Amino acid sequence: MKKCVVIGGGIAGLTSAVYLSKSGINVELIESSNKLGGRAYSFKDTATGSIIDNGQHILMGCYEETLKLFRLINAEDNLIYQDRLSIPFLNSNSKLYKLEATKLFYPLNLLMGLLNYNVLKFEDKVSVIVFFIKLAFSNKNKLKGLTVEEWLFRENQSENLRKSFWEIVCVGALNSSTKKASAELFASILKKMFLHGNEASTLIIPKLGLSETYCKPAEEFLLKNETSISFSENVLELVIQNNSVKKIITSKREIEDFDYLISAVPLPVLKKFYTDNELAKINLENSCIVSIHIWLKENYLNEKFYGLIDSSVHWIFNHGDHITLVISDANYLVDKEKEEIYKMCLEEIKKYASISEETVKHYKVIKEKRATFIPTPETLTKRPGTKTKITNFFLAGDWTDTRLPATLEGAVISGKKAAGYIIKNLE
Ligand SMILES: Cc1cc2nc3c(=O)[nH]c(=O)nc-3n(C[C@H](O)[C@H](O)[C@H](O)COP(=O)(O)OP(=O)(O)OC[C@H]3O[C@@H](n4cnc5c(N)ncnc54)[C@H](O)[C@@H]3O)c2cc1C
Repeated sequence: MKKCVVIGGGIAGLTSAVYLSKSGINVELIESSNKLGGRAYSFKDTATGSIIDNGQHILMGCYEETLKLFRLINAEDNLIYQDRLSIPFLNSNSKLYKLEATKLFYPLNLLMGLLNYNVLKFEDKVSVIVFFIKLAFSNKNKLKGLTVEEWLFRENQSENLRKSFWEIVCVGALNSSTKKASAELFASILKKMFLHGNEASTLIIPKLGLSETYCKPAEEFLLKNETSISFSENVLELVIQNNSVKKIITSKREIEDFDYLISAVPLPVLKKFYTDNELAKINLENSCIVSIHIWLKENYLNEKFYGLIDSSVHWIFNHGDHITLVISDANYLVDKEKEEIYKMCLEEIKKYASISEETVKHYKVIKEKRATFIPTPETLTKRPGTKTKITNFFLAGDWTDTRLPATLEGAVISGKKAAGYIIKNLE
């Protein structure tokens, strides 16, 4: 039986391991921390006993490969699905607006949803509709090198529209402002989200903490398929001879009994144990996401989540026993004290959701400094593919060339593709 070592137990590495083991390949998964999930996991908050995520994750109906993986590992019931797109928004007067597809057939349902979204003026709604019609027939080569902001200017999207619509969509989808993000990538995901049927445009949120949602089912699947998982083991060095990885040196041992190797670790980690001139030239700028978990004495919020219009806090997620505020594109908060961030957010959401210091029981701020990379126009051409120059060594991870931003879906696609090369090799 052929053996593959997978380095990294984030969702990319888990995906590779799942597909390889399903194909009857002997898999050994090596993870440096004491848990699976990488940048998408949950844990017990010691002060309250609540299970909280390191950062709230939103999936979409267009996450085809992630949903396939979830079905395979028996985790699809751990998600909350929408029948049609529905996003409640609050403005700074606590007024609720819904961007909601109607019950009509697609794409009329989305069109009517947009026409009913009264945050936008009539001329702005028409402007968005014209934008999407042009997008459906657009040639992505015309967007090469442009930022989203440059593209929006070119398409005469008004300032109000950019602020109360496009900035929210761009920051939500790319964790980057319109000023930096690639127009080409944004166009490609807008097509996937809104031009591929009703289901693709719906939002999906985990029912449970992320670790229960997919890490545990993935671990159970792997153990059933006799995959060995080693925790708290750091890969430190690869020994390469005759264009093939012969030995993996870890913090615990030296591994030689393998045929293939997949790395599913972030780029800076890969650079530490694999020297490659092309990789050395790539530097992806990180973008932080800050989550502020707040336990309230009484929670009056009715919806599962809210987008906030024209606010430094982008989302409120309602978990019943606590709420989570999410700030994306948050590099400006990296050096701020957690208490300062909490106070700043409380001041902000007072206007949106009548939450004040007196109503708070407890809070916890989590800064994920390297949540995603910033997908600038330049990064699009730099991301490496799955194959390396080394014949038995493949790359996975959300930062590899998936043609998607750093997302669960990108990571899953990368992990499946790496496994696919190995499975094909053995056929
Ligand atoms: C706060 C936050 C919010 C997010 N929100 C969303 C969202 O709403 N929707 C969405 O789709 N995506 C979201 N993302 C992005 C998503 O989480 C990532 O794209 C995805 O989890 C990346 O998975 P990965 O497997 O490629 O990498 P990682 O998750 O980084 O996995 C890499 C793994 O490798 C391990 N490792 C590192 N070094 C070594 C070593 N030397 N040896 C062995 N193992 C090692 C790490 O411990 C880690 O487990 C968010 C991310 C964050 C942080």
